[in-house]
Amino acid sequence: MYTIRGYEKVKSLEEAYEANQKNSSSIIGGGMWLRLGSKNIGSAIDLTDLGLDQIEETEDAFIIGCMTSLRDIECHKGMNRYFHGMMKEMMKGIVGTQFRNTATIGGSIYQRFGFSDPLTAFLALDTTVEMYAGGMIPLDDFVSMDYDRDILVRIHVKKDGRKAAYQSFRNTKTDFPVVTVGVSKSEAGWKVTVGARPGRAEVFKPVHPLSDEPEDEEIKQFAKEISEAAVFGSNMRASGEYRKLLAEVLVGRAVEDICLQLKQDTQEGLSR
Ligand SMILES: Cc1cc2nc3c(=O)[nH]c(=O)nc-3n(C[C@H](O)[C@H](O)[C@H](O)COP(=O)(O)OP(=O)(O)OC[C@H]3O[C@@H](n4cnc5c(N)ncnc54)[C@H](O)[C@@H]3O)c2cc1C
Repeated sequence: MYTIRGYEKVKSLEEAYEANQKNSSSIIGGGMWLRLGSKNIGSAIDLTDLGLDQIEETEDAFIIGCMTSLRDIECHKGMNRYFHGMMKEMMKGIVGTQFRNTATIGGSIYQRFGFSDPLTAFLALDTTVEMYAGGMIPLDDFVSMDYDRDILVRIHVKKDGRKAAYQSFRNTKTDFPVVTVGVSKSEAGWKVTVGARPGRAEVFKPVHPLSDEPEDEEIKQFAKEISEAAVFGSNMRASGEYRKLLAEVLVGRAVEDICLQLKQDTQEGLSR
């Protein structure tokens, strides 16, 4: 169990950043991860007065405040419509509804857990993290950066017209995932992310891109190429070999989902 010796409900990000520079300080998101540790926290920094629990939709992005709960993202109609249900799919396996009502996206992305569903999914999109001191950093770079004492303020997800899909596998419902996969297709091409390897999610750019209307065999080949490029390890949940096989299947399913979305768009376009 953790211990909190001091508590600051800050009135500005500047105040939060200053307070967080002490090694004994800790930003408190939902506190769901912190509460399981044994940290001795000199000053618990509470961001709840800063209005960072909102999702804003602009013409070209969704901007998610760091204190937004996983549940609010899961249920966000605009984001789910735009990304074809991906928000619901990435969140639904994380523990339970009450848990997701409390855990925040700031705590989830800042921590860059290897098993993270949202990290894998947002990495497949065009996502940028807004850090208080570090400014705007593409998630593709942030994922491999070291921890510092900065504050993750918001997450910006570009509305660039890409199609996206998310897949994960758990041994039992509500457990940590054994493999997580995000796939997207934009004008720039296909982007695949694989997490819970069990290391942090990584981005894989396919060497052989798919044709416009790929047959099953081509998708299978594509998925195999990704799973062979990824490095998997073993832990109490699964062996590396098993993860590789699972990843191949999940990448294939996500690609099929996107191909279906593209087909539906074409059919809707023709019927208009
Ligand atoms: C039992 C259990 C099962 C879980 N299962 C899954 C799962 O299956 N899939 C999954 O993806 N995740 C899972 N998680 C992780 C969970 O979804 C959250 O990611 C985690 O609880 C952190 O979110 P939080 O808001 O609770 O953060 P906190 O516990 O409050 O904080 C976590 C860390 O992030 C720091 N922090 C918080 N907010 C910020 C910020 N804005 N800027 C900088 N630093 C910040 C804190 O100082 C702390 O070091 C699980 C967690 C638990 C406890």
